[in-house]
Amino acid sequence: MASEPHAVSAADASAADDGILATARRQLERAAALVDVDEAILERLRHPSRVHRVTIPFERDDGDVEIVTGYRAQHDSVRGPYKGGMRYHPDVTEDECVGLSMWMTWKCAVMDIPFGGAKGGVVVDPKTLSDDETERLTRRLAQELRTVVGPNHDIPAPDMGTGGREMAWFMDAYSMQEGETTPGVVTGKPPAVGGSYGREEAPGRSVAIVVREALDYYDRPLEGATVAVQGFGSVGANAARLLEEWGADVVAVSDVTGGVYDPDGLDVASIPTHQEEPEAVSRGDGDPVSNAELLALDVDVLVPAAVGNVLTADNAGAVRADLIVEGANGPTTARADEILEERGVPVVPDILANAGGVTVSYFEWLQDINRRSWPIERVREELETEMLGAWNEVAREFASADGVSWREAAYVVALSRLAAAHDARGLWP
Ligand code: NAD
Repeated sequence: MASEPHAVSAADASAADDGILATARRQLERAAALVDVDEAILERLRHPSRVHRVTIPFERDDGDVEIVTGYRAQHDSVRGPYKGGMRYHPDVTEDECVGLSMWMTWKCAVMDIPFGGAKGGVVVDPKTLSDDETERLTRRLAQELRTVVGPNHDIPAPDMGTGGREMAWFMDAYSMQEGETTPGVVTGKPPAVGGSYGREEAPGRSVAIVVREALDYYDRPLEGATVAVQGFGSVGANAARLLEEWGADVVAVSDVTGGVYDPDGLDVASIPTHQEEPEAVSRGDGDPVSNAELLALDVDVLVPAAVGNVLTADNAGAVRADLIVEGANGPTTARADEILEERGVPVVPDILANAGGVTVSYFEWLQDINRRSWPIERVREELETEMLGAWNEVAREFASADGVSWREAAYVVALSRLAAAHDARGLWP
């Protein structure tokens, strides 16, 4: 399920730090200081390979033709085809797409998935589009990008404002023009057209796995551990329900309207998720709690799983959780990261914790190109294996170097793999 358009906008991100691209570049520099990488490789990674800018005409229901702008940033493909979401949001910018495409490169590399990083978006407010308009826009977008995407080249996926429905239209438009059914051109499709079982739950499941492993790393039991989850959507609700199933006490959850808190543990299964009933969390049993209060609760684990830039210089000092596992993309600003590090609060980064999404997208692509569907049990089993593999690599890096944060350890693992691949392939011609 796609994130809703109320998720963090480019403008919000810029206000909270220097913008996504600046943050992505700063994170690259911090990791580069810890890895022996050729300067020429680093310089390549500071920039996208290409950014495609397209003009998309589509017909409104009243017959008017509207023109909107779309972008597809392709950052790096040294380890495999470009991979990343396509968002529909009025604040989409070229720089935002480039920054997000860099994060996708690191995310695929830290997971050791044979994909590179991409991200795209259309500057449009999806709330202003009828279903028919959304379909016409999506089909025309697929046509405009047809020569630069493809199952072996660049594979879009849902993001803010898009979902399985848009991916099915995109796949159909691409397939019609290619003259053959090509499910592997996008992931996040409905299972009826080659989507994978377990794709929807995957980012939340990977967050829960990482919470479990991180607690174990610090010799803390999962049984009875108190957890607060901000954002009860696809990522937050799946993580919360799984953690409850595994014995943790989820004591607080929230949505954009506020949350509920019970120090003895909530009955998470009875609280409707964003997908089941939007913004209904605060009607659940428990005391009312604001989003600001939730972030400052005295819990074992805090999972920010709503939007970006919620942990900032203003509130990082008030965090009382012993451990933070990032469910959302970019919930911690650079300054908040420094404050939490100074205070000794470990932050396990998004590029590892929520990477279950892109990992099961990779499984979906494998199923599509092999024309063979996997049962949910296999998806879960293979996701567990991939997550443990990535976790162990990052934990080894974290344990081996003094003063390195979890985020830096994850970036070091990713950057080392990217540098090795660039080095082995060399420069052509
Ligand atoms: P979603 O739309 O399903 O749910 C978002 C939830 O956050 C909703 O409950 C909403 O009410 C709440 N929310 C929105 N703004 C809020 C605010 N300011 N304060 C508190 N709560 C707020 O979204 P999702 O798919 O679960 O995505 C959440 C985050 O995880 C996003 O950062 C997204 O980029 C990231 N992510 C999603 C996936 C995925 O495949 N769904 C994968 C990786 C990362």
